[in-house]
Amino acid sequence: MFDLIVIGGGAAGFYSAIHAATINPKLKIAILEKGKEVLGKVKVSGGGRCNVTHAQFDPTELVKNYPRGEKELLGPFHKHCSGDVISFFEEKGIVLKIEDDGRMFPSSNTSQTIIDCFLSEASKLGIQILKHSGVLSFEPKNVWEVVTIKKTYRAKKVLIATGSSSKIWKNIQELGHSIVAPVPSLFTFNIKDSRIKGISGVSTNARVAVYDRNLVDAKITIKLSSQKKRKPLLVDEGPLLITHWGMSGPAILKLSAWGARILNSLKYKFEVHINWLPDHYNESVLKLLNEIKEIESKKTVLRTKAVDIPRRLWTNLVRAAGIGKDEKWADITKEKLLKLSEQLTDCRFIVDGKSTFKEEFVTAGGVELSEINFKTMESKLVSNLYFAGEVINVDAITGGFNFQNAWTTGYIAAQGITQK
Ligand SMILES: Cc1cc2nc3c(=O)[nH]c(=O)nc-3n(C[C@H](O)[C@H](O)[C@H](O)COP(=O)(O)OP(=O)(O)OC[C@H]3O[C@@H](n4cnc5c(N)ncnc54)[C@H](O)[C@@H]3O)c2cc1C
Repeated sequence: MFDLIVIGGGAAGFYSAIHAATINPKLKIAILEKGKEVLGKVKVSGGGRCNVTHAQFDPTELVKNYPRGEKELLGPFHKHCSGDVISFFEEKGIVLKIEDDGRMFPSSNTSQTIIDCFLSEASKLGIQILKHSGVLSFEPKNVWEVVTIKKTYRAKKVLIATGSSSKIWKNIQELGHSIVAPVPSLFTFNIKDSRIKGISGVSTNARVAVYDRNLVDAKITIKLSSQKKRKPLLVDEGPLLITHWGMSGPAILKLSAWGARILNSLKYKFEVHINWLPDHYNESVLKLLNEIKEIESKKTVLRTKAVDIPRRLWTNLVRAAGIGKDEKWADITKEKLLKLSEQLTDCRFIVDGKSTFKEEFVTAGGVELSEINFKTMESKLVSNLYFAGEVINVDAITGGFNFQNAWTTGYIAAQGITQK
Protein backbone atom coordinates (compact mmCIF):
# COMPACT_ATOMS: atom_id res chain seq x y z
CA MET A 1 0.00 0.00 0.00
CA PHE A 2 1.30 3.44 -0.96
CA ASP A 3 0.66 6.69 0.87
CA LEU A 4 0.54 8.44 -2.49
CA ILE A 5 0.26 7.26 -6.07
CA VAL A 6 1.04 9.84 -8.70
CA ILE A 7 -0.53 8.93 -12.05
CA GLY A 8 1.63 10.38 -14.83
CA GLY A 9 5.41 10.73 -14.89
CA GLY A 10 5.56 14.20 -16.43
CA ALA A 11 6.60 17.64 -15.19
CA ALA A 12 3.77 18.09 -12.67
CA GLY A 13 3.93 14.49 -11.37
CA PHE A 14 7.67 14.57 -10.67
CA TYR A 15 7.73 18.06 -9.16
CA SER A 16 4.86 17.15 -6.85
CA ALA A 17 6.22 13.73 -5.80
CA ILE A 18 9.66 15.23 -5.04
CA HIS A 19 8.15 17.99 -2.89
CA ALA A 20 5.81 15.59 -1.07
CA ALA A 21 8.73 13.26 -0.28
CA THR A 22 10.91 16.19 0.80
CA ILE A 23 8.23 17.48 3.20
CA ASN A 24 7.60 14.01 4.61
CA PRO A 25 10.40 11.52 3.84
CA LYS A 26 8.40 8.72 5.49
CA LEU A 27 5.77 8.71 2.75
CA LYS A 28 5.73 5.71 0.43
CA ILE A 29 5.27 7.23 -3.02
CA ALA A 30 5.02 5.71 -6.51
CA ILE A 31 4.82 7.40 -9.91
CA LEU A 32 2.92 5.31 -12.48
CA GLU A 33 3.89 6.13 -16.06
CA LYS A 34 2.32 4.51 -19.10
CA GLY A 35 5.32 5.10 -21.38
CA LYS A 36 8.66 3.36 -21.51
CA GLU A 37 10.28 6.66 -20.48
CA VAL A 38 9.20 9.39 -18.08
CA LEU A 39 9.31 13.15 -18.68
CA GLY A 40 8.84 12.79 -22.43
CA LYS A 41 7.48 16.31 -22.94
CA VAL A 42 10.19 17.89 -20.81
CA LYS A 43 12.71 16.20 -23.12
CA VAL A 44 11.33 17.75 -26.33
CA SER A 45 10.23 21.02 -24.75
CA GLY A 46 11.62 24.36 -25.89
CA GLY A 47 13.25 22.73 -28.92
CA GLY A 48 15.17 20.32 -26.62
CA ARG A 49 16.30 23.13 -24.30
CA CYS A 50 13.26 23.19 -21.93
CA ASN A 51 11.87 26.65 -21.35
CA VAL A 52 11.49 25.98 -17.60
CA THR A 53 9.79 29.22 -16.60
CA HIS A 54 9.59 32.95 -17.31
CA ALA A 55 11.38 35.81 -15.58
CA GLN A 56 8.13 37.29 -14.34
CA PHE A 57 8.22 37.30 -10.55
CA ASP A 58 5.06 39.26 -9.76
CA PRO A 59 2.06 36.88 -9.40
CA THR A 60 -0.40 39.56 -10.54
CA GLU A 61 1.56 40.02 -13.77
CA LEU A 62 2.32 36.31 -14.18
CA VAL A 63 -1.37 35.28 -14.17
CA LYS A 64 -2.04 37.55 -17.16
CA ASN A 65 -0.37 34.94 -19.36
CA TYR A 66 -3.07 32.33 -18.70
CA PRO A 67 -6.17 32.51 -20.94
CA ARG A 68 -7.63 29.81 -18.70
CA GLY A 69 -6.62 29.85 -15.03
CA GLU A 70 -5.88 33.58 -14.62
CA LYS A 71 -8.12 33.96 -11.57
CA GLU A 72 -7.48 30.57 -9.97
CA LEU A 73 -3.67 30.64 -10.20
CA LEU A 74 -3.23 33.96 -8.38
CA GLY A 75 -3.35 32.39 -4.89
CA PRO A 76 -1.09 29.45 -5.84
CA PHE A 77 1.47 31.83 -7.46
CA HIS A 78 1.63 33.82 -4.22
CA LYS A 79 2.72 30.58 -2.53
CA HIS A 80 5.05 29.21 -5.23
CA CYS A 81 6.13 31.44 -8.10
CA SER A 82 8.84 31.46 -10.76
CA GLY A 83 11.43 32.66 -8.22
CA ASP A 84 10.77 29.58 -6.07
CA VAL A 85 11.27 27.32 -9.10
CA ILE A 86 14.59 29.02 -9.84
CA SER A 87 15.64 28.47 -6.18
CA PHE A 88 14.55 24.82 -6.32
CA PHE A 89 16.77 24.13 -9.31
CA GLU A 90 19.62 26.25 -7.91
CA GLU A 91 19.62 24.17 -4.72
CA LYS A 92 20.08 21.11 -6.92
CA GLY A 93 23.03 22.79 -8.65
CA ILE A 94 21.17 23.84 -11.83
CA VAL A 95 21.54 27.42 -12.98
CA LEU A 96 18.79 28.90 -15.15
CA LYS A 97 19.58 31.72 -17.56
CA ILE A 98 17.24 34.47 -18.77
CA GLU A 99 16.95 35.20 -22.48
CA ASP A 100 16.17 38.69 -23.82
CA ASP A 101 12.44 37.95 -24.06
CA GLY A 102 12.24 36.70 -20.46
CA ARG A 103 12.21 32.96 -21.18
CA MET A 104 14.35 30.92 -18.80
CA PHE A 105 16.36 27.83 -19.77
CA PRO A 106 18.96 25.69 -18.00
CA SER A 107 22.36 27.26 -18.72
CA SER A 108 23.43 23.84 -20.08
CA ASN A 109 20.96 24.50 -22.93
CA THR A 110 19.59 20.98 -22.73
CA SER A 111 16.39 19.61 -21.22
CA GLN A 112 18.32 16.49 -20.15
CA THR A 113 19.70 18.56 -17.22
CA ILE A 114 16.14 18.92 -15.84
CA ILE A 115 15.36 15.24 -16.43
CA ASP A 116 18.60 14.11 -14.73
CA CYS A 117 17.81 16.37 -11.77
CA PHE A 118 14.31 14.91 -11.32
CA LEU A 119 15.50 11.29 -11.70
CA SER A 120 18.34 11.75 -9.23
CA GLU A 121 16.09 13.51 -6.67
CA ALA A 122 13.38 10.86 -7.00
CA SER A 123 15.95 8.12 -6.48
CA LYS A 124 17.47 9.88 -3.41
CA LEU A 125 14.01 10.27 -1.88
CA GLY A 126 13.03 6.63 -2.51
CA ILE A 127 10.18 7.45 -4.92
CA GLN A 128 9.32 4.36 -6.95
CA ILE A 129 9.06 5.01 -10.68
CA LEU A 130 6.97 2.35 -12.36
CA LYS A 131 7.18 2.63 -16.16
CA HIS A 132 5.05 0.67 -18.64
CA SER A 133 2.27 1.12 -16.09
CA GLY A 134 -0.60 2.69 -18.00
CA VAL A 135 -3.45 3.29 -15.58
CA LEU A 136 -6.78 1.86 -16.71
CA SER A 137 -8.93 2.95 -13.78
CA PHE A 138 -8.84 4.32 -10.23
CA GLU A 139 -11.60 3.94 -7.71
CA PRO A 140 -12.07 5.18 -4.15
CA LYS A 141 -12.99 2.07 -2.17
CA ASN A 142 -11.77 1.91 1.47
CA VAL A 143 -8.55 3.23 -0.02
CA TRP A 144 -7.79 4.01 -3.66
CA GLU A 145 -7.53 1.06 -6.04
CA VAL A 146 -5.46 1.93 -9.06
CA VAL A 147 -5.60 -0.61 -11.87
CA THR A 148 -2.78 -0.63 -14.41
CA ILE A 149 -2.21 -2.89 -17.42
CA LYS A 150 0.13 -4.93 -15.18
CA LYS A 151 -1.40 -5.03 -11.71
CA THR A 152 -3.59 -3.28 -9.15
CA TYR A 153 -2.07 -0.93 -6.57
CA ARG A 154 -3.58 0.51 -3.41
CA ALA A 155 -2.97 4.01 -2.06
CA LYS A 156 -4.29 6.43 0.54
CA LYS A 157 -4.11 9.37 -1.83
CA VAL A 158 -3.99 9.77 -5.60
CA LEU A 159 -2.58 12.67 -7.61
CA ILE A 160 -3.65 12.86 -11.25
CA ALA A 161 -0.92 14.44 -13.39
CA THR A 162 -1.63 12.85 -16.75
CA GLY A 163 -1.57 16.01 -18.89
CA SER A 164 -4.06 15.98 -21.75
CA SER A 165 -5.00 12.28 -21.66
CA SER A 166 -8.57 11.85 -22.87
CA LYS A 167 -8.83 8.37 -21.32
CA ILE A 168 -8.02 9.67 -17.85
CA TRP A 169 -10.42 12.60 -18.30
CA LYS A 170 -13.12 9.99 -18.92
CA ASN A 171 -12.18 8.20 -15.66
CA ILE A 172 -12.28 11.53 -13.80
CA GLN A 173 -15.71 12.26 -15.28
CA GLU A 174 -16.96 8.90 -14.01
CA LEU A 175 -16.07 10.07 -10.49
CA GLY A 176 -18.51 12.97 -10.92
CA HIS A 177 -16.20 15.72 -12.20
CA SER A 178 -16.98 17.92 -15.20
CA ILE A 179 -14.42 18.06 -17.99
CA VAL A 180 -14.24 21.19 -20.14
CA ALA A 181 -14.00 19.80 -23.69
CA PRO A 182 -10.39 19.88 -24.92
CA VAL A 183 -9.44 22.05 -27.90
CA PRO A 184 -5.94 22.86 -29.21
CA SER A 185 -4.16 26.03 -28.14
CA LEU A 186 -0.91 27.62 -29.42
CA PHE A 187 -1.04 27.11 -33.18
CA THR A 188 -0.20 29.08 -36.31
CA PHE A 189 -2.59 30.26 -39.06
CA ASN A 190 -2.68 28.66 -42.53
CA ILE A 191 -3.00 31.31 -45.24
CA LYS A 192 -2.49 30.95 -48.98
CA ASP A 193 -2.13 34.44 -50.45
CA SER A 194 0.15 36.01 -53.04
CA ARG A 195 0.94 38.92 -50.70
CA ILE A 196 2.87 36.64 -48.34
CA LYS A 197 4.12 34.16 -50.93
CA GLY A 198 7.89 33.90 -51.22
CA ILE A 199 8.62 36.11 -48.22
CA SER A 200 8.71 33.53 -45.42
CA GLY A 201 11.00 34.61 -42.60
CA VAL A 202 9.85 38.23 -42.77
CA SER A 203 8.98 39.46 -39.28
CA THR A 204 7.40 42.75 -38.28
CA ASN A 205 5.24 44.33 -35.62
CA ALA A 206 1.54 44.30 -36.53
CA ARG A 207 -1.96 44.56 -35.14
CA VAL A 208 -4.07 41.52 -36.03
CA ALA A 209 -7.86 41.44 -35.74
CA VAL A 210 -9.90 38.24 -36.19
CA TYR A 211 -13.33 38.37 -37.85
CA ASP A 212 -16.00 35.75 -38.40
CA ARG A 213 -16.06 35.07 -42.14
CA ASN A 214 -19.64 33.85 -42.16
CA LEU A 215 -20.80 37.00 -40.49
CA VAL A 216 -19.04 39.10 -43.12
CA ASP A 217 -20.61 37.20 -46.01
CA ALA A 218 -24.08 37.34 -44.50
CA LYS A 219 -23.82 41.06 -43.84
CA ILE A 220 -22.47 41.89 -47.27
CA THR A 221 -25.54 40.42 -48.90
CA ILE A 222 -27.82 42.43 -46.64
CA LYS A 223 -26.17 45.82 -46.34
CA LEU A 224 -22.70 46.77 -47.41
CA SER A 225 -22.31 49.71 -45.01
CA SER A 226 -22.77 47.46 -41.96
CA GLN A 227 -19.56 45.66 -42.94
CA LYS A 228 -17.53 48.57 -41.59
CA LYS A 229 -19.26 48.43 -38.22
CA ARG A 230 -18.79 44.75 -37.47
CA LYS A 231 -16.58 44.13 -34.48
CA PRO A 232 -13.47 41.96 -34.39
CA LEU A 233 -13.74 38.81 -32.29
CA LEU A 234 -10.13 39.09 -31.11
CA VAL A 235 -7.35 41.65 -31.47
CA ASP A 236 -3.66 41.46 -30.61
CA GLU A 237 -0.54 43.44 -31.40
CA GLY A 238 3.04 42.17 -31.47
CA PRO A 239 5.71 40.54 -33.63
CA LEU A 240 4.24 38.64 -36.59
CA LEU A 241 6.27 36.12 -38.58
CA ILE A 242 5.42 35.19 -42.17
CA THR A 243 5.99 31.47 -42.74
CA HIS A 244 5.86 29.08 -45.71
CA TRP A 245 2.31 28.10 -44.79
CA GLY A 246 0.91 31.37 -43.41
CA MET A 247 1.51 33.39 -40.26
CA SER A 248 3.12 32.70 -36.90
CA GLY A 249 5.02 34.68 -34.26
CA PRO A 250 3.97 35.93 -30.80
CA ALA A 251 0.98 37.99 -32.06
CA ILE A 252 -0.56 34.96 -33.80
CA LEU A 253 0.25 32.47 -31.02
CA LYS A 254 -1.35 34.76 -28.43
CA LEU A 255 -4.51 35.00 -30.55
CA SER A 256 -4.56 31.19 -30.88
CA ALA A 257 -4.37 30.82 -27.10
CA TRP A 258 -6.84 33.52 -26.07
CA GLY A 259 -9.14 32.56 -28.92
CA ALA A 260 -8.72 28.77 -28.64
CA ARG A 261 -12.45 28.17 -28.18
CA ILE A 262 -13.73 30.84 -30.58
CA LEU A 263 -11.39 29.71 -33.37
CA ASN A 264 -12.36 26.08 -32.77
CA SER A 265 -16.04 27.02 -33.07
CA LEU A 266 -15.19 28.67 -36.42
CA LYS A 267 -13.52 25.40 -37.46
CA TYR A 268 -10.31 27.41 -38.02
CA LYS A 269 -11.81 29.24 -41.02
CA PHE A 270 -11.92 32.98 -40.45
CA GLU A 271 -10.65 36.34 -41.66
CA VAL A 272 -7.75 38.39 -40.27
CA HIS A 273 -7.31 42.11 -40.85
CA ILE A 274 -3.73 43.22 -40.40
CA ASN A 275 -2.45 46.68 -39.73
CA TRP A 276 1.25 46.53 -40.65
CA LEU A 277 1.65 50.02 -39.12
CA PRO A 278 -0.07 49.64 -35.74
CA ASP A 279 0.70 53.24 -34.73
CA HIS A 280 -1.25 54.53 -37.76
CA TYR A 281 -4.73 54.32 -39.21
CA ASN A 282 -5.88 54.46 -42.81
CA GLU A 283 -6.32 58.26 -43.06
CA SER A 284 -2.96 59.12 -41.46
CA VAL A 285 -1.14 56.72 -43.79
CA LEU A 286 -2.98 58.15 -46.80
CA LYS A 287 -1.85 61.62 -45.74
CA LEU A 288 1.72 60.37 -45.41
CA LEU A 289 1.61 58.70 -48.84
CA ASN A 290 0.34 61.95 -50.40
CA GLU A 291 3.26 63.82 -48.85
CA ILE A 292 5.73 61.24 -50.22
CA LYS A 293 4.03 61.62 -53.63
CA GLU A 294 4.96 65.32 -53.55
CA ILE A 295 8.51 64.92 -52.28
CA GLU A 296 9.59 61.78 -54.19
CA SER A 297 7.51 62.40 -57.32
CA LYS A 298 10.22 61.25 -59.76
CA LYS A 299 11.04 57.99 -57.99
CA THR A 300 9.26 54.66 -58.44
CA VAL A 301 6.89 53.61 -55.65
CA LEU A 302 8.38 50.13 -55.50
CA ARG A 303 11.89 51.37 -54.77
CA THR A 304 10.89 54.18 -52.36
CA LYS A 305 9.77 52.40 -49.23
CA ALA A 306 7.64 55.09 -47.62
CA VAL A 307 6.96 53.36 -44.29
CA ASP A 308 8.83 51.30 -41.73
CA ILE A 309 8.02 47.72 -42.80
CA PRO A 310 10.35 45.04 -44.26
CA ARG A 311 11.21 45.75 -47.91
CA ARG A 312 9.96 42.38 -49.24
CA LEU A 313 6.57 42.98 -47.63
CA TRP A 314 6.45 46.53 -49.08
CA THR A 315 7.12 45.09 -52.55
CA ASN A 316 4.24 42.62 -52.24
CA LEU A 317 1.81 45.21 -50.86
CA VAL A 318 2.68 47.71 -53.60
CA ARG A 319 1.95 44.98 -56.17
CA ALA A 320 -1.30 44.09 -54.40
CA ALA A 321 -2.36 47.75 -54.68
CA GLY A 322 -2.09 47.36 -58.47
CA ILE A 323 1.00 49.59 -58.76
CA GLY A 324 3.40 48.51 -61.54
CA LYS A 325 7.11 48.16 -60.92
CA ASP A 326 8.03 51.23 -63.00
CA GLU A 327 5.23 53.50 -61.83
CA LYS A 328 6.46 56.75 -60.32
CA TRP A 329 4.87 58.49 -57.34
CA ALA A 330 3.86 61.41 -59.54
CA ASP A 331 1.75 59.12 -61.78
CA ILE A 332 -0.07 57.26 -59.02
CA THR A 333 -3.83 57.80 -59.04
CA LYS A 334 -5.86 58.63 -55.93
CA GLU A 335 -7.47 55.17 -56.13
CA LYS A 336 -4.14 53.40 -56.13
CA LEU A 337 -2.88 55.45 -53.17
CA LEU A 338 -6.06 54.55 -51.30
CA LYS A 339 -5.55 50.88 -52.14
CA LEU A 340 -1.95 51.05 -50.90
CA SER A 341 -2.98 52.68 -47.62
CA GLU A 342 -5.60 49.92 -47.22
CA GLN A 343 -3.00 47.23 -47.85
CA LEU A 344 -0.82 48.84 -45.18
CA THR A 345 -3.45 49.33 -42.48
CA ASP A 346 -6.34 46.98 -43.26
CA CYS A 347 -4.78 44.08 -45.11
CA ARG A 348 -7.33 41.26 -45.23
CA PHE A 349 -6.52 37.55 -45.40
CA ILE A 350 -8.57 34.37 -45.33
CA VAL A 351 -7.32 31.83 -42.78
CA ASP A 352 -8.09 28.25 -43.71
CA GLY A 353 -6.85 25.83 -41.05
CA LYS A 354 -4.08 25.78 -38.48
CA SER A 355 -0.65 24.23 -38.08
CA THR A 356 1.17 22.99 -35.01
CA PHE A 357 3.69 25.32 -33.48
CA LYS A 358 6.66 23.01 -33.02
CA GLU A 359 8.28 24.66 -30.03
CA GLU A 360 5.28 24.21 -27.78
CA PHE A 361 1.63 23.25 -28.10
CA VAL A 362 -0.90 22.66 -25.39
CA THR A 363 -4.53 21.70 -24.87
CA ALA A 364 -7.13 24.09 -23.55
CA GLY A 365 -9.69 22.21 -21.48
CA GLY A 366 -9.62 19.69 -18.66
CA VAL A 367 -10.97 19.33 -15.14
CA GLU A 368 -13.42 22.16 -14.37
CA LEU A 369 -11.58 24.65 -12.14
CA SER A 370 -14.52 25.40 -9.83
CA GLU A 371 -14.43 21.75 -8.72
CA ILE A 372 -10.86 22.03 -7.37
CA ASN A 373 -9.70 23.59 -4.11
CA PHE A 374 -6.74 25.73 -5.25
CA LYS A 375 -5.37 25.93 -1.69
CA THR A 376 -4.59 22.19 -1.80
CA MET A 377 -5.35 21.05 -5.39
CA GLU A 378 -7.73 18.49 -3.86
CA SER A 379 -10.99 17.65 -5.60
CA LYS A 380 -13.99 19.33 -4.00
CA LEU A 381 -16.06 16.29 -4.96
CA VAL A 382 -13.88 13.28 -4.13
CA SER A 383 -11.77 13.12 -0.98
CA ASN A 384 -8.03 12.28 -1.29
CA LEU A 385 -8.04 12.95 -5.03
CA TYR A 386 -5.62 15.68 -6.21
CA PHE A 387 -4.80 17.28 -9.59
CA ALA A 388 -1.75 19.04 -11.02
CA GLY A 389 -0.56 20.31 -14.41
CA GLU A 390 -2.25 20.26 -17.78
CA VAL A 391 -4.99 17.80 -16.69
CA ILE A 392 -6.91 20.78 -15.28
CA ASN A 393 -8.51 23.50 -17.40
CA VAL A 394 -5.44 25.76 -17.30
CA ASP A 395 -3.17 26.69 -20.18
CA ALA A 396 -0.89 29.55 -21.05
CA ILE A 397 0.69 31.36 -23.92
CA THR A 398 4.19 30.26 -24.97
CA GLY A 399 7.19 31.38 -22.90
CA GLY A 400 7.63 28.91 -20.02
CA PHE A 401 4.23 29.61 -18.47
CA ASN A 402 2.81 26.14 -19.10
CA PHE A 403 5.59 24.50 -17.09
CA GLN A 404 5.13 27.14 -14.38
CA ASN A 405 1.53 25.90 -14.04
CA ALA A 406 2.83 22.32 -13.71
CA TRP A 407 5.41 23.34 -11.06
CA THR A 408 3.06 25.53 -9.02
CA THR A 409 0.04 23.21 -8.99
CA GLY A 410 2.39 20.26 -8.35
CA TYR A 411 3.88 22.09 -5.37
CA ILE A 412 0.47 23.10 -3.95
CA ALA A 413 -0.75 19.50 -4.32
CA ALA A 414 2.34 18.26 -2.43
CA GLN A 415 1.55 20.71 0.37
CA GLY A 416 -2.10 19.65 0.42
CA ILE A 417 -1.28 15.95 0.36
CA THR A 418 1.28 16.13 3.17
CA GLN A 419 -0.70 18.46 5.41
CA LYS A 420 -4.00 16.52 5.40
C1 LIG B 1 6.62 19.98 -28.25
C2 LIG B 1 6.25 20.69 -26.97
C3 LIG B 1 7.14 21.60 -26.40
C4 LIG B 1 6.80 22.28 -25.24
N1 LIG B 1 7.69 23.18 -24.73
C5 LIG B 1 7.37 23.87 -23.58
C6 LIG B 1 8.30 24.77 -22.99
O1 LIG B 1 9.44 24.92 -23.44
N2 LIG B 1 7.88 25.47 -21.88
C7 LIG B 1 6.64 25.30 -21.32
O2 LIG B 1 6.32 25.96 -20.34
N3 LIG B 1 5.77 24.40 -21.85
C8 LIG B 1 6.11 23.67 -22.94
N4 LIG B 1 5.22 22.77 -23.44
C9 LIG B 1 3.99 22.48 -22.68
C10 LIG B 1 4.39 21.57 -21.51
O3 LIG B 1 5.18 20.52 -22.01
C11 LIG B 1 3.16 21.02 -20.81
O4 LIG B 1 2.34 22.08 -20.40
C12 LIG B 1 3.62 20.22 -19.58
O5 LIG B 1 4.42 19.13 -19.99
C13 LIG B 1 2.44 19.69 -18.79
O6 LIG B 1 2.94 18.89 -17.75
P1 LIG B 1 2.07 17.71 -17.15
O7 LIG B 1 2.97 17.00 -16.17
O8 LIG B 1 0.79 18.22 -16.69
O9 LIG B 1 1.76 16.75 -18.37
P2 LIG B 1 2.76 15.89 -19.25
O10 LIG B 1 4.10 16.50 -19.27
O11 LIG B 1 2.05 15.68 -20.53
O12 LIG B 1 2.88 14.52 -18.47
C14 LIG B 1 1.82 13.60 -18.36
C15 LIG B 1 2.40 12.21 -18.21
O13 LIG B 1 1.34 11.32 -17.91
C16 LIG B 1 1.52 10.13 -18.63
N5 LIG B 1 0.22 9.44 -18.75
C17 LIG B 1 -0.83 9.80 -19.51
N6 LIG B 1 -1.84 8.90 -19.38
C18 LIG B 1 -1.40 7.98 -18.49
C19 LIG B 1 -1.98 6.81 -17.94
N7 LIG B 1 -3.20 6.39 -18.28
N8 LIG B 1 -1.25 6.09 -17.04
C20 LIG B 1 0.00 6.49 -16.68
N9 LIG B 1 0.59 7.57 -17.19
C21 LIG B 1 -0.10 8.31 -18.08
C22 LIG B 1 2.09 10.61 -19.95
O14 LIG B 1 2.75 9.57 -20.64
C23 LIG B 1 3.05 11.69 -19.48
O15 LIG B 1 4.34 11.20 -19.19
C24 LIG B 1 5.55 22.05 -24.61
C25 LIG B 1 4.67 21.12 -25.16
C26 LIG B 1 5.01 20.45 -26.31
C27 LIG B 1 4.05 19.45 -26.88
